[in-house]
Amino acid sequence: MSAVMSAAATAASFVVNVEEKLFQNRYKVDHGRPHIRILDAAVCSNDCKTQSCTFVCPASCYKAEGNRTVTLITDGCLECGSCRVICTEHSNVAWEYPRGGHGILFKFG
Ligand code: SF4
Repeated sequence: MSAVMSAAATAASFVVNVEEKLFQNRYKVDHGRPHIRILDAAVCSNDCKTQSCTFVCPASCYKAEGNRTVTLITDGCLECGSCRVICTEHSNVAWEYPRGGHGILFKFG
């Protein structure tokens, strides 16, 4: 095996599957008390052109529906805060950490 092929084989063995890594986390749902809320759904549908939250979220908590509504399911949220930061134009996200004992439990890193 040439040095180039060996290096390629080594690199291929280090490919990270993000979905696999996320699956190792555990999440304790605080039923009926989501720690993130969309303040006004109509703002997402009618005023927000980019709907950036739907592609910035690493856990895919936000979904752009075909009718331009945005849905949010906080189960699996990594508490990174990206959705709060990126919604600067409309400030349409109410964000707080989950209550103690709830939320993400990282199993690695
Ligand atoms: Fe997604 Fe991060 Fe917002 Fe959680 S805090 S919903 S992981 S963007």
